[in-house]
Amino acid sequence: MTRKFIDCREFPSDTHCSVAISADSEEELLQVAAEHAVSVHGHSDTPELRAQLRQLFRDGTPPEHQPMPAQPAAPDATASRPH
Ligand SMILES: [Zn+2]
Repeated sequence: MTRKFIDCREFPSDTHCSVAISADSEEELLQVAAEHAVSVHGHSDTPELRAQLRQLFRDGTPPEHQPMPAQPAAPDATASRPH
């Protein structure tokens, strides 16, 4: 059976929520995700919200570390050249 998960870290929010939720079935995940969206993110539990959440589900389990988005490369260290 494939686990399903949804990872709040993928969605930048004012609360910087780092919660990830996983479950064995979409129905379980949808129920918990909807409760989380309502209680933590202040959404309303509507069919539209649940449809949106369902689109964000992924197969597998949440990664331990979420890759940071577009991190700038190493600082442009201007090599101090001997004159
Ligand atoms: Zn969240």
